Amino acid sequence: MRRNSLNTERFFDAIVIGGGPAGSTCAYKMAAEGHSVLLLEKSKFPRFHIGESMVPYLSKLLEMMNVYDRVKESAFVKKTGVEFLTGTTGELRRQSFTNLADGQYEDTNNLNRARFDKVLLEHAEDTGAEVLQEADVKKLILDGERVAGVEYQYQGQRYIAKASYVVDASGRAGLVSKHFNLRKMNNRLQNVAVFQHYKDVVKENNPGIEGDVLFGSHKDGWVWGIPVESDAMSVGTVMPLSLLKQSSPEKIFQEHCDRSPRIKSAIKGATAVFDKPKVELDFCYYSEQFSGPGYFIAGDAACFVDPVFSGGVFLSMVCGLKAAEAIHDIHEGANEQEVHKHFGNLCKTGYDSYFRVVYAYYYEFERDMNSMGLNLPGGFRFVLQTFAGDFWADQDQPVMSYLRSKEEWSTFEQPFDLVYDCPIYPDNHYKAADLPNLAPPEGFDSITVDSQAETKDLAIL
Ligand SMILES: Cc1cc2nc3c(=O)[nH]c(=O)nc-3n(C[C@H](O)[C@H](O)[C@H](O)COP(=O)(O)OP(=O)(O)OC[C@H]3O[C@@H](n4cnc5c(N)ncnc54)[C@H](O)[C@@H]3O)c2cc1C
Repeated sequence: MRRNSLNTERFFDAIVIGGGPAGSTCAYKMAAEGHSVLLLEKSKFPRFHIGESMVPYLSKLLEMMNVYDRVKESAFVKKTGVEFLTGTTGELRRQSFTNLADGQYEDTNNLNRARFDKVLLEHAEDTGAEVLQEADVKKLILDGERVAGVEYQYQGQRYIAKASYVVDASGRAGLVSKHFNLRKMNNRLQNVAVFQHYKDVVKENNPGIEGDVLFGSHKDGWVWGIPVESDAMSVGTVMPLSLLKQSSPEKIFQEHCDRSPRIKSAIKGATAVFDKPKVELDFCYYSEQFSGPGYFIAGDAACFVDPVFSGGVFLSMVCGLKAAEAIHDIHEGANEQEVHKHFGNLCKTGYDSYFRVVYAYYYEFERDMNSMGLNLPGGFRFVLQTFAGDFWADQDQPVMSYLRSKEEWSTFEQPFDLVYDCPIYPDNHYKAADLPNLAPPEGFDSITVDSQAETKDLAIL
């Protein structure tokens, strides 16, 4: 039931701060379970957001949220694969999602986030969440040590709302993490990104397969080319902060794009949307704690590290969903301490796994995606499954067990119990027992081609 927003001191089962993917998912699930939930979003949607390439496991999550059809109707760009150009070796490969386990979605989307985030927010509202846009949360309200509500600014006035739980899904702003001083910078990685959007992209100039993300690594970092609409492309370059400091965003963006001939070709003749390339800094951080008295933290409000494997939105939404389930379970009488513990372990397992895949790319395989795909233990299908979103893989999943064996890649300082229940595909995924029967498909051997080659000449996996 919708309520009048202008009353002060109203009470909800949950208040969600932020209407990005984590917040909308959490508010949707709360409402779907019949709870009262207030979502406060600072911006007016649609609003720009970076983070546009998705993992295949997201499709199933959207289905679980009853929003898959709506996303499909919204005509986002369908993504069936990724092409990797290793600039230092000239090796070019395409990874398609067709070899994922039976029962898994074989495609996902590239998302114009302004449109996608609006679809999710509206879905939460239509399910029964009360959503206020341009509602800026100014401070947390505490009852002793427990977070008991928020104070927010809306249409020029201050309001107070109280709740059994506050879910912080405020992204990089990280209201709760910052209030309790929980955010720590990631010492293993300190990258930055410089990016631009292009419109009037000419389809024929893209040498690859329609919808594929174009990925190009080079000696200093890597470049993305994400078709976010049929005639629009997001292009960005990721590098260590130290490198950007020696140059300017404009210069380094141009230099890195020039090193990625396939992306350069794809945007030939297209028009830059922003006056100058945008810069994202300070996104490599984490929190040891995902919840506490009266609060849960979901998505970028807790952790982020690097976009290289497109896991940010997916992980954020899983945590948003699980935060809502946790609050629901507590309402149903589950032991609060146990629920908090499980929520933290589940989120940490997801992020820790993703961090390890990222570290392997940068440190073990030195940004050679092709070498990584071919040389991780367990073979091609397990690698594909891991890249697709299998971050809660069982102990004997060969890729994850290898990555988890690397003690030096632990991000969280405090030990936690890994959660192996995949929230997306509890049953339909490759298992270690399948390994002997999972020979690589024909034509899997690495090939080296001219980086300007037509995609039909590539090894299509
Ligand atoms: C350079 C770069 C590239 C990326 N590429 C990818 C990619 O290709 N694929 C991918 O999956 N992820 C990518 N990501 C990560 C992705 O953008 C994030 O993981 C994702 O947006 C997190 O969702 P969220 O809901 O947690 O936070 P957000 O999407 O950031 O949403 C937070 C919301 O909270 C609101 N808010 C903030 N403060 C307040 C307040 N005080 N009151 C009310 N509302 C508030 C904000 O307005 C915002 O709408 C990338 C990140 C970076 C930095």
